[in-house]
Amino acid sequence: MRVYVSVDMEGIAGIVHEDQTNPVDPRCAAEYARGRKLMTAEANAAVEGALAAGAGFILVNDSHWAMRNLLAEELHPAAELLRGGPKRLSMLEGIDAGFDAALFIGYHARAGTARALLDHTMTDVVRDARLNGRSMGELGLNAALAGSYGVPVALVSGDRATADEARDVLGAEVGTVVVKEAVSRHAARSVAPEVAGQRIREGVTAALRRPHRPFVPPSPSTIEVDFTFTYQADYAELVPGSVRRGPLTVAYTHPDFHELFRAWRALYNLARAE
Ligand code: ZN
Repeated sequence: MRVYVSVDMEGIAGIVHEDQTNPVDPRCAAEYARGRKLMTAEANAAVEGALAAGAGFILVNDSHWAMRNLLAEELHPAAELLRGGPKRLSMLEGIDAGFDAALFIGYHARAGTARALLDHTMTDVVRDARLNGRSMGELGLNAALAGSYGVPVALVSGDRATADEARDVLGAEVGTVVVKEAVSRHAARSVAPEVAGQRIREGVTAALRRPHRPFVPPSPSTIEVDFTFTYQADYAELVPGSVRRGPLTVAYTHPDFHELFRAWRALYNLARAE
């Protein structure tokens, strides 16, 4: 069994604020260094859970910010680490049809979710992203990309709002692990990291022993992105083939989801050009 693991940071137990996830601001250095350790421990818990379920190959993709967060020296030796950027498929770089399942660890709710830790969709410039008319965050869009390769998402971990979003998008059969519950965007009740690790290990093993259906987007599919400011849409509509649907909204339609995902990446990256 080949298992793909995408690891974000906002949904890791104990993390409640950007100070813990910001790799560039020197004022955050001490908190960020601790956050990286917590993130690496949850990635390793997922690896251990996958090994217990019989995984023979595990790829761990660092999926937060500049994607150089996971501590290579602390990585479980059974896993291979994909880190750095830019990566064409971003949080799902390295995914291919040869994987049996994907795990999303440390994920967070989509932009505009209440009672959700650090909710956002890739970047602050995105107010909302809709796939075929349905609002989707990172977990939904990434699950659709995995699904376009025939790879199902077996488990999502993060706060309670993320688990709810995962079941809403992927169905009741997806495994979920809740490691914290939001009080507000920057406050939570969280289990101890050790407990989070145990839940992830056990949850991953159980989830990988069940069959899962890939979340396959229809062909053609349309992504529609609402930006925060009009100038961001002005930049985004430079993507060839895109359509300006409103003052803040740019859409892109394509029969091949891989191409649509490339356009999605281009839309929000162009939008933050200025
Ligand atoms: Zn992140």
